[in-house]
Amino acid sequence: MPIYPLARNADDITHNLQQVRHCMAQACLRVGRATDSVRLLPVSKTVDLERLRAAHQAGCLELGENKVQEAHGKAQTLSELQDLRWILIGHLQTNKVRHAVQFASEFQALDSLRLAEELDRRLQQVGRGLPVMVQVNTSGEDSKYGLPPDQVASFLQALRPFHSLQVTGLMTLAMLSSETQAVRQCFRRLRLLRDQLREQAPAGMSLEHLSMGMSGDYELAIEEGATVVRVGQAIFGARTIPDSHYWPEHDKENLHV
Ligand SMILES: *Cc1c(COP(=O)(O)O)cnc(C)c1O
Repeated sequence: MPIYPLARNADDITHNLQQVRHCMAQACLRVGRATDSVRLLPVSKTVDLERLRAAHQAGCLELGENKVQEAHGKAQTLSELQDLRWILIGHLQTNKVRHAVQFASEFQALDSLRLAEELDRRLQQVGRGLPVMVQVNTSGEDSKYGLPPDQVASFLQALRPFHSLQVTGLMTLAMLSSETQAVRQCFRRLRLLRDQLREQAPAGMSLEHLSMGMSGDYELAIEEGATVVRVGQAIFGARTIPDSHYWPEHDKENLHV
């Protein structure tokens, strides 16, 4: 893994964003995609408020967060930044849904019907909708959240009654491995699944988007069709809190940090 130096201020963050955007464009060109066809979602878990303000100054208008409590706290404290949107990208417990619907602009880790039901109920109460992505376990690792690929078709059908949820696509975390082929396979699996499901998806579910790729593998993900990449450390610097805090069940041997 590359070393990601800590971004201390808006200039550092601007520099890193430019770097990442450059690599994203190169990856697009390698596979003949338009260089503006991929959305960069900066991931700001563990990043403190001062550096979040710097990120906003550097032009970040949306931030991805893994944990709802951490995100909600940040959103409340930074509520003066009215054009800043918060995207939840981590596993959400049903008992935290009421917090999530208060501030999240999008949720990318939908992985159970119980959660969908509770989200829909709470969203109805507050009178709003929510774009969501279904998380798929493409690596086959037990420790990962997300639906097994063969359950996604029926899951999408079962989501039809939940009118507050706007399904926009699929999300995955690839295997955390230094073996490029294994990582690429995860991304490819998600794209092929999406292509296959598109034909049978319920009306109104676009399945346009594939949220896949992080600091260590976003270029591969783009080559395999990602339309959203979720990048934290390459923008903000290496995290000191291990990812096991965010992926509690994750196999420690495979951690990024
Ligand atoms: C932290 C996180 C990322 C970003 O990981 P980096 O290594 O910081 O790029 C992407 N997706 C999810 C779900 C995360 O929790």
